[in-house]
Amino acid sequence: MEKSEIIGFLRSEGEERSSLFRRAREVRDQTLGNKVYFRGLIEFSNICSKDCFYCGIRKSNKRVVRYEATDEEILTACRFAWENRFGSVVLQSGERSSPRFVDRVERLVREIKRFSGGELGITLSCGEQSRESYQRWREAGAHRYLLRIETSSPALYARIHPQNSLHTFEKRLEALRLLRETGFQVGTGVMIGLPFQTVEELAADLLFFREIDIDMCGMGPYIEHEHTPLYQYRHLLLPREERFGLALRMIAVLRLLMPDINIAAATALQAIDPAGREKAVAVGANVIMPNLTPCQYRRDYLLYEDKPCLDEDAELCRNCLEARIELTGSEIGYGEWGDSKHFQHRTALP
Ligand code: SAM
Ligand code: SF4
Repeated sequence: MEKSEIIGFLRSEGEERSSLFRRAREVRDQTLGNKVYFRGLIEFSNICSKDCFYCGIRKSNKRVVRYEATDEEILTACRFAWENRFGSVVLQSGERSSPRFVDRVERLVREIKRFSGGELGITLSCGEQSRESYQRWREAGAHRYLLRIETSSPALYARIHPQNSLHTFEKRLEALRLLRETGFQVGTGVMIGLPFQTVEELAADLLFFREIDIDMCGMGPYIEHEHTPLYQYRHLLLPREERFGLALRMIAVLRLLMPDINIAAATALQAIDPAGREKAVAVGANVIMPNLTPCQYRRDYLLYEDKPCLDEDAELCRNCLEARIELTGSEIGYGEWGDSKHFQHRTALP
């Protein structure tokens, strides 16, 4: 697919858009079947050493009450995931790289593997780390990693991050390369509808995913947060429903471009439309991340306004999602890892 064709799809309306969505769904069903896999999301700490201009839990937001879930709380959430046959968990946090943090994640990964007899799959999403840290976490048993590039445009990246050595585009790219080299299934993604972002840049993001040959993708709409620097540009934003529509088209086009990768239906979709994640599943996504973060912490992991599921406990969340997924005509892959077929294909022996 040429860039101009992708741009056409991203701008499509009416029958053209419906046919894009139909084709994306068909490609997913033909390549991967109609199963949707759950990854229980545990946002285990909002302490972060970075200051991304878009993010509500950035270091300089002094209004945030910082927390770190205890080992017991994290393991209880993982046990819930295991007992409810979710297949996998995602451990996500602000970015830190102290030896204490790296040791702790390694220990938690080993413990999750131990109590589940190796059954629970583990995805990490803890930001940029050294090769050694990635290696240690991989050896401990984590096998997937999510690190969004946020935008593949170095110029836009520079506008949405502080200009210092902690926040460079090159470091982000290098981290994605290290993840691949240390044997992870690599997931990345972008925010859609950022201030200053163009449709051309979004098309380039999709081609970037193909070029670096990702295994998984999680992308969703950018949603403003009052206590962040990007908030001052809110007058430049597309209306939320348009960001939502653009996000669905991005998912559908990516499914056509990379039929065998895993695509997650991002939580931010649900912040705009209560049925947002199910709509993403209907246009080609095949992974959903029910929130298993202990309820007392959820209001302190507010990346953006109107983040959903702040009060729903894990049990409620599961029942609600189950019904909604079945409505889309998909089936939930209970007790399965649902690994990226793309990763299996690219690492298969000749
Ligand atoms: N700290 C790790 C990192 O940055 O990779 C993982 C946690 S971070 C909160 C996860 C993702 O949240 C980021 O990659 C970013 O795309 C997304 N995010 C942050 N602020 C957002 C916003 N205002 N709207 C939508 N997504 C946002
Ligand atoms: Fe920290 Fe991640 Fe938020 Fe950036 S996006 S401020 S690294 S939590």
